[in-house]
Amino acid sequence: MIRTRFAPSPNGSLHLGHAWAAIVAHDLARERGGEFLVRVEDIDGARSRAELADDHLADLDWLDLHWDGPVVRQSERLESYADAAERLRGMGLLYPCQCTRADVLAAARADGPDGPLYPGTCRGRDMYSHGAAWRLDMAKAVALAGPLTWRDENAGEQAARPELFGDVVLVRKDAPASYHLAATLDDSADGITLVTRGADLFAATHVHRLLQALFGLPVPVWHHHALLVEANGKKLAKRRGSAQEGFGLTDRRRAGEYGRALADALRAGHFPAGISLGTGVGGGT
Ligand code: GLU
Repeated sequence: MIRTRFAPSPNGSLHLGHAWAAIVAHDLARERGGEFLVRVEDIDGARSRAELADDHLADLDWLDLHWDGPVVRQSERLESYADAAERLRGMGLLYPCQCTRADVLAAARADGPDGPLYPGTCRGRDMYSHGAAWRLDMAKAVALAGPLTWRDENAGEQAARPELFGDVVLVRKDAPASYHLAATLDDSADGITLVTRGADLFAATHVHRLLQALFGLPVPVWHHHALLVEANGKKLAKRRGSAQEGFGLTDRRRAGEYGRALADALRAGHFPAGISLGTGVGGGT
């Protein structure tokens, strides 16, 4: 049986792009007789707000998208992230890094999929660990894991290229795990067999596949869906959830709109003026 998930971060309001992502994950599960899980990615203590998570769940319900089992919250799993990081430290694969964003920007000689590529400034240095971020020694990790592949339903078989990201942060200075570490551990803990998420996270899967290998986790299949984009081809920004923009789900729900009709309109490809479905990876939705 397949299990998909929708994993919103409660640091802003949901907009039509999120509705689309949730519909894809929900409908794939329902079409195949599987399960659909909702995970609140509230690991970022400074920016996550409990009332936004409540709104997100109410928005999903309003769209007539119902999840199976209890809602999972990352904030309840901090210990599992810490344990996992400790395992990697024990394998000699993590090192503390005291660089600020500005340091990374100044030192970077190239860009990776997430922005300026960290050139490994703190690697091999005797850096104090208090208040540090912890980075993966990518070269060592890749050598240990050996060649890896993963499969996206739309784009097909991929050779994993986590080295594109350089020494990624796995434990943040301000949060007990980075997105990469938490999402990988959670998808496994939640028994997700089909990781459904936007095409903007396609490259992140290279890192997640490597982490799965290092931890000996089962390997799911991925479904990176096309994103809703604006006329300029850019994905809908977070501000699109704000009342002024008119695309916010919570505002539309509170205004009395019928959510099920909105979900069905999106399913039928009826998007507001200036919004369309992007090309996606491998040409799939
Ligand atoms: N929490 C992420 C977001 O809101 C989604 C991560 C994922 O689906 O892997 O963009």
